[in-house]
Amino acid sequence: MLKFYNTINREKQEFKSIKDKKAGIYTCGPTVYWFAHIGNLRTYIFEDILKKVLKYNGYKIKHIMNITDVGHLTSDADMGEDKLEKGAKREKKTVWEIAEFYTNAFKKDLKRLNIEEPNIWVKATETIKEQIDLIKILEKKGFIYKIEDGIYFDTSKLKTYGRLQGKKEKKIKPGARIKIATGKKNPTDFALWKFSPKNEKRQMEWKSPWGVGFPGWHTECVVMGIENLGIPFDIHCGAIDHITIHHPNEIAQAEAAYGKIMANYWLHGEFLILKQGKMAKSEGNIVVIDDLIKKNINPLAFRYLCLGTHYRSKLTFSWESLEGAQNSLNKLYEKIIKLMEDKSLSTPLSILSTDEAKNYQKRFLEFIQNDIDMPKALALMWQMIKNKKISNQEKYTLLLDFDKVFGLNLYKIKKTEIPKKIKNLADLREKYRQEKKWKEADETRIEIEKQGFTIEDTPTGPKTQPVI
Ligand code: AMP
Ligand code: ZN
Repeated sequence: MLKFYNTINREKQEFKSIKDKKAGIYTCGPTVYWFAHIGNLRTYIFEDILKKVLKYNGYKIKHIMNITDVGHLTSDADMGEDKLEKGAKREKKTVWEIAEFYTNAFKKDLKRLNIEEPNIWVKATETIKEQIDLIKILEKKGFIYKIEDGIYFDTSKLKTYGRLQGKKEKKIKPGARIKIATGKKNPTDFALWKFSPKNEKRQMEWKSPWGVGFPGWHTECVVMGIENLGIPFDIHCGAIDHITIHHPNEIAQAEAAYGKIMANYWLHGEFLILKQGKMAKSEGNIVVIDDLIKKNINPLAFRYLCLGTHYRSKLTFSWESLEGAQNSLNKLYEKIIKLMEDKSLSTPLSILSTDEAKNYQKRFLEFIQNDIDMPKALALMWQMIKNKKISNQEKYTLLLDFDKVFGLNLYKIKKTEIPKKIKNLADLREKYRQEKKWKEADETRIEIEKQGFTIEDTPTGPKTQPVI
């Protein structure tokens, strides 16, 4: 039985989709003013694994993701500068150029992490009319009020407000942590439409029945989710920071406008943190995928690292743990290459024949069905690899089968001969290394990598293999 921890009910629940064997998923996407850091990317990896788990269980997915290219202020609580406008000033570009550049960078990261793209991407700036229409409905139903800097949602008018957070004391208290816009009736009220500042021309602004301005950050997801998936839809995801502000505010708008819960299941991934605390641009300690590549680390090693911690537990990042993940991943690739040396090995079997192998597949399914328990699934895979009772053919079959969920590109490993040219370059690099000509050795390594191969120094000497 497929079970997920549903934040809204604070328990693991059996997943029952609205339409048989179909799952509608909405995931809050990036704010495209900077590169996504590995904390953000942990959340997208978790959501990708969720999709793969659903697919493995026979579901057809319709997945929507937004691109926030306007309206996300530097404080989630409607104060501060628009992140996009800030980014444009920093880079002396237009906000549109900033949005395009970082959207492309984000998509490139997804590819490098083997994260499948959503079926539909929607930009916030493409749904301004629809967002205004939603605010009009809320106005008709008496949920909004106007103050100096914008139009706000009155959370005191909605009895169910904040039910995602659970215990009352977890709700935001007046004056706590966040700066509150002057004139707000309740601390939890949030902006639906912000007016352009009087003394400043914004690059992105639109006319509305209430004045020229831009939408608040919490409205776009409501519009995009419901327009594409209906109300309610099956699953809404994000990271845990969204449990306190963003998602309660989405739920509130949908409930006030349509009288229904927006989605049936709310799944939240825990944060990636550093030993010293939060990873944040303001702390100057963010790590992006290019940093991994500069250190010669396969981005999929980061994916592997994420698999080792349950999505609802904090993942404390360190370079040592990432290198450990890289070693384990390389070991896994080597295992497959070794399996492939078995001449009798053919394409994966469609049906497993032994009870031993079938039992591994059954346990794998049980783990992933139990709220996506990837650490247990990963440990099971290693146990299976070491099990002498399982034939090479069945090992190979099971590995490729499990990888439909792990997403480590195991199927890409082919019986490849290392070309003579690459072998020669590897020998040359080794010669340079023996002669302590580090610069030349490094240049030769770069040449090898340019040709699509990696070289790794192991206790038994350097090993060359195709990039996976
Ligand atoms: P943003 O681009 O700031 O809107 O964030 C993109 C996604 O990353 C959101 O779902 C955030 O909740 C999530 N996120 C932000 N920081 C972290 C972190 N350190 N670990 C995991 N997820 C995060
Ligand atoms: Zn959202």
